[in-house]
Amino acid sequence: MRPVVLVIAGHDPTGGAGIQADIEAIHAAGGHAVTLITALTVQDTNGVRSFSLTPAKILMQQAEVLLADIHPQAIKLGMLGHPDTVGVVKTVLNALPGIPLVLDPVLAGNLSGKLSDASLPQALLALLPRTTLLTPNSVELDQLLQGRTLNHLFEQGVDHVLITGGHRPGPTLINELHNAHGCLWRSEITRIPGEFHGSGCTLASACAIGLAQGLSIPEAVQRAQHYTTATLERAYSPGRGQYLPWR
Ligand code: PLP
Repeated sequence: MRPVVLVIAGHDPTGGAGIQADIEAIHAAGGHAVTLITALTVQDTNGVRSFSLTPAKILMQQAEVLLADIHPQAIKLGMLGHPDTVGVVKTVLNALPGIPLVLDPVLAGNLSGKLSDASLPQALLALLPRTTLLTPNSVELDQLLQGRTLNHLFEQGVDHVLITGGHRPGPTLINELHNAHGCLWRSEITRIPGEFHGSGCTLASACAIGLAQGLSIPEAVQRAQHYTTATLERAYSPGRGQYLPWR
């Protein structure tokens, strides 16, 4: 059996990020992705122009029909865009108790351009009690914390947080896995030159398929990190902007 990951995320026409990144990363590790597409984005490899949300009613209908048929072993949340979509996700999560959940809080991508409503960081807090692994970059982490300490996330019920350092300057990229007791694991990687599109989605989905396959959180994170680095080392540029991970 191929483990199934339920992905709830947005579509990126370049294929570098969003739902296509998720499907490819999950497939590469031997899993199967079932997908609810929250938004259509207008973008190229240079930046995001705009996005349109899938109506909450349609998403809910898709989820009901899908989940009556297929039972996922893990859930990965990417771009949700708006609090209305968070409302649908809450209902879906209530129907799937006990399944590991990776939440990639898509607030700030690697490109210029917005992928979320200003009220989304606040709305996402409602998902924290169900979150097994939160994967913010440093910019998204600041938006979620609003000046509070990391401990706030654990108090809200998050199990683990993987903070990615791609947005911080410097020759070394530092990613850190934390739980309520402190830092469990830290990776220091020499920064691969260039700008990439879809690295966060790739990493979070690679973590989700690891959890669906029964890996522990540190095992899933380490395997996902290794895989993502490999996809960036062989990244390619189909357009005129950022490089895309070769998954
Ligand atoms: N989800 C969608 C639909 C996107 O378009 C993007 C970036 O443009 C992202 C997520 C986040 O991308 P990244 O993995 O580069 O942070």
